[in-house]
Amino acid sequence: MALSQTITLPNGIKYEQPLGLFINNEFVKGVEGKTFETINPHDEKPIVAVHEATEKDVDIAVKAARAALEGEYKNVAPSVRGRYLTKLADLLEENIETLSGIESLDNGKSLFWSKVDITNAAGCIRYYGGWADKITGQTIDTDAKNFTYTRHEPVGVCGQIIPWNFPMLMWAWKIGPALATGNTIVLKSAEQTPLSALFAASLVKKAGFPPGVVNIISGFGKTAGAAISSHMDIDKVAFTGSTLVGRQILQAAAKSNLKKVTLELGGKSPNIVFPDADIENAISWVNFGIYYNHGQCCCAGSRVLVHEDIYDKFIEAFKKRAESNKVGDPFDKETFQGPQISQLQFDRIMGYIDEGKKAGAKVVTGGERHGSQGYYIKPTIFADVTNDMKIVQEEIFGPVCTVQKFKTEEEAIKLSNTSSYGLASAVHTTNLNTALRVSAALRAGTVWVNTYNTLHYQVPFGGYKESGIGRELGSYALENYTQIKSVRVYLGDALF
Ligand code: ADP
Repeated sequence: MALSQTITLPNGIKYEQPLGLFINNEFVKGVEGKTFETINPHDEKPIVAVHEATEKDVDIAVKAARAALEGEYKNVAPSVRGRYLTKLADLLEENIETLSGIESLDNGKSLFWSKVDITNAAGCIRYYGGWADKITGQTIDTDAKNFTYTRHEPVGVCGQIIPWNFPMLMWAWKIGPALATGNTIVLKSAEQTPLSALFAASLVKKAGFPPGVVNIISGFGKTAGAAISSHMDIDKVAFTGSTLVGRQILQAAAKSNLKKVTLELGGKSPNIVFPDADIENAISWVNFGIYYNHGQCCCAGSRVLVHEDIYDKFIEAFKKRAESNKVGDPFDKETFQGPQISQLQFDRIMGYIDEGKKAGAKVVTGGERHGSQGYYIKPTIFADVTNDMKIVQEEIFGPVCTVQKFKTEEEAIKLSNTSSYGLASAVHTTNLNTALRVSAALRAGTVWVNTYNTLHYQVPFGGYKESGIGRELGSYALENYTQIKSVRVYLGDALF
């Protein structure tokens, strides 16, 4: 199979799609000659086949990353690394029309939101480009006879495994901080969405990164992903995906070389609406909180908690709002919600919807497939739910939310925190004291007040409890990719 193919996107853009594994700044075939198809979730048809990495290719990529790390690259000044990153950010922006088209074709998100993703991916890369020459250690004055300082050194070869819900954004969140701090990378994209990562790989080369610094492979979790997490020469693995796979990665790291692990996992995030909230705003954010990206966000506000005084009014207005979301073709300008990523996810979500109906929850709106082709599901609201229902406790990862009633602030906090997850949460109120008190009480890595899903690359993101380990974004992410060396220089005479 060829190493690239000309593709014409539904928005008319014609471009050359790389199909190989990006190792040592070249696109190559997999050693075993395997390929796999990526499916367009809008029409359920294959878009193109890409080359598949197996364990042997992971090994080759790791060797390339190791050679780069230990070669000339370590003499490249941090400011030069920063310039590579800012150049990469420029290139992402220059190619935004193509990249957002690829994203919409492969992932199914609307073109508008794909552009937002690419813009934020470029912003994230530029932000970390700025950090590259600002990584500093400390000098520590212990006594007059010692000169002691710390060095913040790269961790080494970093394995990065990303999901399909934000292919380019996750790509940027992962490579930005790792490159700013001088590491080299083997990144595996999700098997459902390999295309944008490969196109962006060609930009990595154009940005000036030397061969081997960034290696990007397409492949499956059980083979290429598992080979990364158990590899003896990978120093760190960063993963975003399901809690189930996160556990496997942590186990594989423990069983192999105790590589450092950061995990950004699932969620079942509460979105609390107090009776004094600006109700129209709250409904907009609750709607955006669950239906943005078709509910395929680890931080989706999937558990809506509404005070009993406004519950009925809220449900009625929220129903109207959800029904007004335009579901359809990602390339249609009006579209807000596109198809789910795959048949598997579609079936999982429909399974939860059936489960909710059987458990006696009331379907306020949706609860069924949208149209007859593509993995489309109508925005779905369940009311009259109890906390023990599966649809209230388990992550659905689709356009499905539950709306629960609460009486007191204490009850809202208790319900919110009764979850094995702790990724995100939100409070809608016009009372500052309520906002701050509840924000402090929620056990979650992010609390949004009078907003939802407004992530920013300057702001750390990550989970409490089973939602993850470590923080991505902001300056905090730099800690994941550096290790501290203490150097003590003795200035006195020998003691013994
Ligand atoms: P989802 O179920 O939503 O597809 P996953 O957590 O399975 O999410 O996938 C996220 C990423 O993890 C993908 O890149 C996938 O290939 C990878 N992955 C899946 N299983 C494993 C595994 N056992 N080891 C390493 N990576 C894996």
